[in-house]
Amino acid sequence: MTATPIPRRIPFAEKINPENRRADWAVIGFIGAIHLGALASPWTFSWSGLVVFLILSWMGGGLGITMGFHRLLTHQSFKCPKWFYYFVTICGCLQWQGGPIRWVGTHRLHHKHSDGEEDPHTPKHGFNWAHMFWCMFKDHEDFKPYDAAKDLTKDKVMVWIDKYFVIFQFILAAGLYAGGYFYGGQGTEGHLLALSWIVWGIFLRTACAYHGTWLVNSATHTWGYRNFKTTDDSRNSWWVALLSFGEGWHNNHHAFQRSAAHGLKWWEFDITYITIRLLGLVGIAKDIVKPTTAQMEQKNIPA
Ligand SMILES: [Zn+2]
Ligand SMILES: [Zn+2]
Repeated sequence: MTATPIPRRIPFAEKINPENRRADWAVIGFIGAIHLGALASPWTFSWSGLVVFLILSWMGGGLGITMGFHRLLTHQSFKCPKWFYYFVTICGCLQWQGGPIRWVGTHRLHHKHSDGEEDPHTPKHGFNWAHMFWCMFKDHEDFKPYDAAKDLTKDKVMVWIDKYFVIFQFILAAGLYAGGYFYGGQGTEGHLLALSWIVWGIFLRTACAYHGTWLVNSATHTWGYRNFKTTDDSRNSWWVALLSFGEGWHNNHHAFQRSAAHGLKWWEFDITYITIRLLGLVGIAKDIVKPTTAQMEQKNIPA
């Protein structure tokens, strides 16, 4: 006699259940194509392609995801003019991690249920699940990231960007192809350099960015040290911080979610916080949030 499975009502428990999960082939196709394209990088190397890769990695990952989607849109760690707000949002769209509203809502649900049953990406459901597979399956109908980001759904420009986030990557690709073609001297040489810029500036850059962001979900809830008491398994990892523009100081972040600074000890290098401070000096960033010494002492784990 086979027992009838008890229906699970928890959206993510339902989603990870192998019997119920449904693959999201559109997402798998896009992520798979990006990784396949990245495999061509050793054969299409050029020094200018490497420069394109580095600049766009900083724009998409540093300004877009880390400063924009995460510290500004999700946690409101600082205030800035609208033009800058939308600029970093569009930079974030270049990483193809979903639209900004969906990203913010998903991340807020991660904080709300961190390392619990309803956490969208906890290593408690498996390291590989937390790293990359969580986003490759269709959501349960009760998983509602847009409800967790209602402040953003009221903004018509943000709703438009969220709906059409995919197109910015294509516009960038067209610009890179044209740039590489003319910089390469046109003709066959131009096409070859254009190809290098596409592989390094789109495919390799986006693939690296996926793993940089995913490591924050998987590695920094698994390995590293803890400065502060939190109710989850968040940890600080120097190597994830280097790969993700400062996001690896993740225990600090879970302890002080609104803080613009994720590195809170002097040795915790946080390039994004340094950038926010510089933006503060030129008047673009205002009301930059940082915990006081007293607030930090309250949650401190004695060495
Ligand atoms: Zn976390
Ligand atoms: Zn966060």
